[in-house]
Amino acid sequence: MFRVLVLECMQEVSSFNPVQSAYENFRIDRGNSMLSQRGLNTAIGGALAVLEADPEITVVPGYGARSDSAGPLSAAGWQRLSSELLEVVDRNADVDAVLVSLHGAMAAIGELDPEGALLSEIRRRVGPETPIVMSLDLHGIVTARMIEAVNGLAIYYTYPHRDFADTGARAARVLLKLLRERPATTIVRVTIPALVRGNELVTDTGIYGEYLRECLALEQSGAAIAAGVMIGNPFTDVPELCSQVLVMTDRDPAEAVKTAERIAAAFWAERNRMQAHLTPLSEAIAGAKAITDGTVLFSDAADAPSSGSSGDSNLLIKGLSDAGYSRKVLAQIVDAGAAAAAHRAGVGATIEVNLGGALDTKRFSPMRVVARVKLLSDGESRLETMGIPLSAGPTAVLTFDNFTVVVFSRSLSLFDRAMYYSNGIDPVDYDLVVVKSPHTEHHMYEAWVRRNFIVDVAGSTSANLPTLGHTVCARPMFPLDPEVPFTPQAELFHSHLSTPAARATG
Ligand SMILES: [Zn+2]
Repeated sequence: MFRVLVLECMQEVSSFNPVQSAYENFRIDRGNSMLSQRGLNTAIGGALAVLEADPEITVVPGYGARSDSAGPLSAAGWQRLSSELLEVVDRNADVDAVLVSLHGAMAAIGELDPEGALLSEIRRRVGPETPIVMSLDLHGIVTARMIEAVNGLAIYYTYPHRDFADTGARAARVLLKLLRERPATTIVRVTIPALVRGNELVTDTGIYGEYLRECLALEQSGAAIAAGVMIGNPFTDVPELCSQVLVMTDRDPAEAVKTAERIAAAFWAERNRMQAHLTPLSEAIAGAKAITDGTVLFSDAADAPSSGSSGDSNLLIKGLSDAGYSRKVLAQIVDAGAAAAAHRAGVGATIEVNLGGALDTKRFSPMRVVARVKLLSDGESRLETMGIPLSAGPTAVLTFDNFTVVVFSRSLSLFDRAMYYSNGIDPVDYDLVVVKSPHTEHHMYEAWVRRNFIVDVAGSTSANLPTLGHTVCARPMFPLDPEVPFTPQAELFHSHLSTPAARATG
């Protein structure tokens, strides 16, 4: 029997969100409560399905922490979170293997590589002969320290993401291979000094998907144990932020080097294509006014809480109102004060409140509205995509003029329709819908809206990357700098678990 410790620590931050996140942003699962992810479309759900189906494996559910995306984690939050997780590792340091589900785009005050810190501390505790495998979001930032600490990995293949469980299952299968065969492996890494964004990243239709399908084919043919192209979260301004190709193999690494360098060169050649095509607000509004039948989507990628923004931008609502757009608008916003005022006043009441501009005060300013309280809720829902709980805190649906706005107390992922549905709203009933996300799954909006404008406005997750003000990531970096040289150059990370026999004889 092999005992496998299962851990999870997931958060994605925008360094440009002025609101720090805290320990309280995380949903913590200790021990058996991690098993509540059985059957869910999450990395842990997928890993459990594989591990629990194996008669030789005993799962040791350890510690799970997951947060909605947010601003950087406070120093105190990081201290508490990391020490709680590592305490669980201390208690289980004699396990045969460790599986860690990570996002990869964390950043804490005082620790710009939290995942690297965790993995190297886990390694120190379980020793060099215990396989550690990590699963990652393709928006994560893999650091050299992370790769040095692990023996294997698995990375999402889809964006908008839907293969959460599949990635966890692949990570679990890599772990089982390492446990049973203990092969000598190499992880080949080629970093690319480019940050990318925009429609070409949608894996079903965009060029990025071609690179990922090539990686998947490597995995499926056995040429690689794992492979992927990580693009980082461009808003997580940390030293190793970049795009990178990763190929893990137990064969001749020379072949993996060639493959990884070739994919990196192809990716680099298409870097201009993999930028967002944003529409200025005035142009988007003019375009929306010209469409008189059917629904128009305004994607507010610049204030996408799922990428780590504050969610309190009112720039689209203000812009539409100022421009006299008169058809029915549905929007969403984070404003705890407005939500609280609505809850105090009650359904049917009329209130005068500030809407938005309470968090990212450098970019947004409050908008005064006189609104009717149409509906109140506790803000509890479930993501359509993954089925995991969403918690917006006290939530209110406010109406004023031609606007219906769902107001949340807390920032949370808005990349699907869950928070509209759970507040009694169907987007198809509106002429213009604001979604605070760069992309949604095709069937949710694009399949039926007349037009999707990704609007160029300010925000801490703006796809207009040079406007953000990176100060930490390595430079030069495309598209932040005019001249960026690049020659693909692989780094190799070797790992050799001793055979069980050798381990026994010490
Ligand atoms: Zn992601």
